[in-house]
Amino acid sequence: MSAPLGAYEGIVGPAVLRQLRQLGEKLSGTRVVHVNSTREGGGVAEILEWMTPIMRELGLDASWEVIDGNPRFFEITKAIHNGLQGANVAIPVKGWKTFEDVNARNFKRLRPILEEADIVFIHDPQPAHLLRLCERRKGKWIWRAHIDISRPFRPVWKVLRSMVEGYDASIFSMAQFAQPLPHPQFLVPPSIDPLSGKNRDLSHAEIEAVRSEYGLDPSRPLLVQISRFDRFKDPVGVVAAYRMVRKVAPVQLVLAGGGATDDPEGKAVLEDVLEAAGNDPDIHVLLLPPDSHKTVNALQRMATIILQKSTREGFGLTVTEGMWKGKPVIGGDVGGIRLQVVNHHTGFLVNTPEGAAHRIRYLLHHQEGLDRMGATAREFVRENYLLTRHIREYLTLMLVTLRDTQANVVNV
Ligand code: UDP
Repeated sequence: MSAPLGAYEGIVGPAVLRQLRQLGEKLSGTRVVHVNSTREGGGVAEILEWMTPIMRELGLDASWEVIDGNPRFFEITKAIHNGLQGANVAIPVKGWKTFEDVNARNFKRLRPILEEADIVFIHDPQPAHLLRLCERRKGKWIWRAHIDISRPFRPVWKVLRSMVEGYDASIFSMAQFAQPLPHPQFLVPPSIDPLSGKNRDLSHAEIEAVRSEYGLDPSRPLLVQISRFDRFKDPVGVVAAYRMVRKVAPVQLVLAGGGATDDPEGKAVLEDVLEAAGNDPDIHVLLLPPDSHKTVNALQRMATIILQKSTREGFGLTVTEGMWKGKPVIGGDVGGIRLQVVNHHTGFLVNTPEGAAHRIRYLLHHQEGLDRMGATAREFVRENYLLTRHIREYLTLMLVTLRDTQANVVNV
């Protein structure tokens, strides 16, 4: 649940809120439905959690629906996700059939709301087939891709593309992800809610409580990567970087993650991480429940440096969250991390564990540079990656998309 809009005035200023309210008036009463595949865990749920209530506060009739699936469905959608991010995966015809069947079951339940909606946002591939099932739709349908789809494994993209091309528009987080499609494409990077449990200011006591809960030493530097246990987040590469740094500096490492309910691969990746970590008491692998917002917030605040060494990344909200807490981020030189980590200004972009170790050592030896980068990072997020910018772009793209059908209603 997000704070009321007025609460953001001190962070973004009154003009930004006034503009949102003006846009909201033009869309008053518009029925908007967001559909994704998990209520918690991962970046999409994180965004819909605040976006839906804020749209409602602005006068739109917004709701958020989650499709249900069985384990087989989520294995297939994870393979689709991996394929779209470039992995060579085999999805048998039977797998696509399961994908369609689960979408069909969900469609039965969601039918009235989907048919009546003025705008439907379908998030990521899992519910993408719903459009084909909704023959009597009244509104516009927009496919919102949150993942790094810059170099998809072609056979997977070919099938998904056939589903996506029927949409009225699509949204990608950055230009490199956009694909040839027969409809308008919008570029909208995600954002964070600065007043959510994950990002609000914490008292010293709140931070210290988390520090002592996990036995972290306040006198030594701390490296933190928060991520689902997913191979594309490269947690094993993070352990390798830590080991190189550990030879010359007394650092501690936290790798904190939890499962999203639509991610079945986490267990295997976690086992690999535990094996890589061995019995080093300064590597803290934390398996957090999905509602551990305050814990994640505190870990990011007590970090000396935030790591996000992904090898593919749609956007990387963890990067935004770390930067908002005034920390430099050492991130993989991929996807949306490139939008946020301005090399040498808000952090460093790296390609290998050696590169990450080199940058960690540099920052640990240059406290002034570290502080300066952290402060630049926070302002960069304020300018570009807070929810107010994000919601403004959604409202404007809705106005543009609805204009074709409702020229007399929507006056852009
Ligand atoms: N997250 C969390 N607990 C975890 C792992 C991740 O709360 O154990 C949150 C994290 O703080 C961020 C989101 O989940 O808000 C992950 O979004 P991101 O864009 O970084 O990656 P995704 O999981 O969507 O690939």
